[in-house]
Amino acid sequence: MGLKNTVVVSSRCEGEGAAAIVVIRVRPRRQAACRCSTCRRKCPRYDRGDGLRRWRTLDIHHRRAFLEAEAPRVQCSHHGVVAAAVPWARHDVGHTLTFDDHVAWLTAHTSKSAVSQLMRVAWSTVGAIIERVVADARARSDPFQQLRRLGIDEVSYKRGQRYITTVLDHDTGRVVWAAPGRDEHTLAKFFNLLGPQRCWQIALVSADAGPWINNAVTKYCPNAKLCMDPFHVVSWATDALDEVRREVWNDARRRGQQAVASEIKGARFALWRNPEDLSAREQAKLADIQRSNGPLYRAYLLKEQLREVFHLPVDQALALLDRWLAWARRCRLDPFVKLAKTIAGHRDAIAAALRHALSNARLESANTKVRLLTPVAFGFHSASALVSLVLLSLGGCCPALPGRT
Ligand SMILES: [Zn+2]
Repeated sequence: MGLKNTVVVSSRCEGEGAAAIVVIRVRPRRQAACRCSTCRRKCPRYDRGDGLRRWRTLDIHHRRAFLEAEAPRVQCSHHGVVAAAVPWARHDVGHTLTFDDHVAWLTAHTSKSAVSQLMRVAWSTVGAIIERVVADARARSDPFQQLRRLGIDEVSYKRGQRYITTVLDHDTGRVVWAAPGRDEHTLAKFFNLLGPQRCWQIALVSADAGPWINNAVTKYCPNAKLCMDPFHVVSWATDALDEVRREVWNDARRRGQQAVASEIKGARFALWRNPEDLSAREQAKLADIQRSNGPLYRAYLLKEQLREVFHLPVDQALALLDRWLAWARRCRLDPFVKLAKTIAGHRDAIAAALRHALSNARLESANTKVRLLTPVAFGFHSASALVSLVLLSLGGCCPALPGRT
């Protein structure tokens, strides 16, 4: 049956029709028998425990199947009287290792309903299964080896009510850690796990402008250079442009200039889009704005020039960034004057991102996938099951399909 260290004693069917099950009587091979379920040391047998026990395993020919075995207790010199370990299942779990791995693989590769229907397990059970599969995978190998360049971000779930913090390894593209919460305390847990030695080796951290990330990185990683994600910087400029657009539009409406107001409203998407993506119609709308509305067009150019900074070689980019800051400071558009202040405060981190060509694009794409996973986690009993699901799917913790190498 492909079971390690296991002897099949007999098999039988129980029940009738759809309710029929297959029961396979097994026992551990001698070298695997009478071992402590905590430390796996050989121990003397203590008693028969609760007698026979069953573990759900993969279906056999459309019938639910169970392994059945004696479940004696042993006396471990370190852990006292405990259940004996069995080679086919984790301690104190009602499913076999094969069953767990199969469910975990399916969860990472197919839909929620496919897993539930095919494996005939409740979704909350799936949550518990992937938690233990991921915990084992992470205990087997060090997920924090060789970390040098990190991306840190937050992802919302439960309709934006709750957050998890994710840490990505830029070199492998894997999510190496995730946890519920988005504050300094949450991130401190990660850096404490990492330990001072490995924190010392972190060279670059890319993140948005969240002060809590900034504070934690400064505190724990003395050699890390913070890189400000260009995507966030450009999105600030888009927000500032929208603020100007709303002001100008409200102003036009107050003055009863209906035609101007509707022109501005109609040009909304043209203002947002990158010039290279504009349709002929949108280009015409922008030209109208240029003729009729100086401030709004100026705001548009400010947004575009800031975007251009991130498409240039680093020296030219920094020169353009400084020219942009000078222009924005005296542009007489409040949202951009404010933005110039913010960006000046993050200039070092923006320069570092340009110099090291490190952006959160990879992290953003991982976070998009995390967002897709959050509805999958509905029905799990805890946020930690969502975290396990993230590590299973994006952290390289998915087991191979049982029996394939
Ligand atoms: Zn023990």
